[in-house]
Amino acid sequence: MQCLIAFDMEKNIAQILEQDDFTKAELVKLLATEGDEKKLLFEKAVEVKQKYIGNTVYFRGLIEFSNICAKDCLYCGIRKGNKNTERYNISDEDILKGVKFAYDNNYASVVLQAGEIDSPVFVDRIDELLKKMKAITNGEIGITISLGEQTEETYKRWFDSGAHRYLLRIESSNRDLYGKIHPQNKKHDFDERLKALKLLQKVGYQTGTGVMIGLPFQTLEDLADDLLFFKEFDIDMIGMGPYIEHEETPLYEHKDKLKPLKERFDLALKMIAITRILMKDINIAAATAMQAIDPIGREKAVKIGANVIMPNITPTDYRGYYQLYENKPCIDESADECQNCLEARIKFAGDKIGYGEWGDSKHYFKRREQSKE
Ligand code: SAM
Ligand code: SF4
Repeated sequence: MQCLIAFDMEKNIAQILEQDDFTKAELVKLLATEGDEKKLLFEKAVEVKQKYIGNTVYFRGLIEFSNICAKDCLYCGIRKGNKNTERYNISDEDILKGVKFAYDNNYASVVLQAGEIDSPVFVDRIDELLKKMKAITNGEIGITISLGEQTEETYKRWFDSGAHRYLLRIESSNRDLYGKIHPQNKKHDFDERLKALKLLQKVGYQTGTGVMIGLPFQTLEDLADDLLFFKEFDIDMIGMGPYIEHEETPLYEHKDKLKPLKERFDLALKMIAITRILMKDINIAAATAMQAIDPIGREKAVKIGANVIMPNITPTDYRGYYQLYENKPCIDESADECQNCLEARIKFAGDKIGYGEWGDSKHYFKRREQSKE
């Protein structure tokens, strides 16, 4: 009898979706939805996106300018220990050509991403590069960087030189799981990652984070905790996508524990939809890894909550070497081709592209206002 009462009191998915906040148990339930219940979840996310964000998608031209990395994350194809990867480092001149391409094509923003290096030479180089990027675009290009863990001083220098958004994925908010997917040393320490994320907020960046979805050992409870972490941390931007195994990495030995790719993709879509409902006014990027699994994966992500896409504008010659995982898409298409195919797909998804607009995270400005009160 007691059991029956408990069952009666349990909320169904429709009731849970009427709320703005969720318990961990409710998040797990949402992550486990299938069929009509999953449809309800996606419909709710579409409704929230329309109400708070609208149907504009913002472009960030992605330049993966170097695959040289001092770290050894166990999942990543460009980790230092992978001796089979040919290393590259695109010249400043070619990076600036990419920036000019983005600017001339009205992308309004670029993302500079690379392996993690913290040498003084690297820090100076990025600093100079940021200033040049601003100079050649009349100070107009919006700049996101994703260059890993750095000191507060470095974050501040780069911010002062023109970068205003920073992506640093926490990878998993569960410190035990973080420990399983990274080597055990100070360079790969969960608390250091957390500290770096806090520094980014302190310095004043629009701060982005995210996780990999479908990692070996990862449970729905872990993902629910990741969602609560995003909320608790008051994050401005999210970039998350499925984990995709790479044969030349240590984590590959656990490939038998993985969900099929299609399930990982589906789970990533649910994570995006729930994030949109939970954090209504943040920016959410449709990760490239979505497209590696499903040719229209990013458009599907846009449809149910994402509002940022990062077309790859890295010179085609280098793209094959930035292989974080297997089957990375668009490695042999030129930036022009990428843009044309994306434009058509986004229109197909019912959205429009915010050409010429930075499309900053609305949440960031609200957060800054609140911190002044
Ligand atoms: N090195 C910087 C860092 O780690 O923050 C930025 C570049 S790193 C390549 C960008 C992201 O790629 C990481 O945060 C990680 O989540 C993702 N990544 C790496 N290996 C991956 C894999 N096998 N599958 C999916 N995403 C992966
Ligand atoms: Fe380096 Fe980033 Fe890959 Fe880790 S995830 S090995 S820091 S590029």
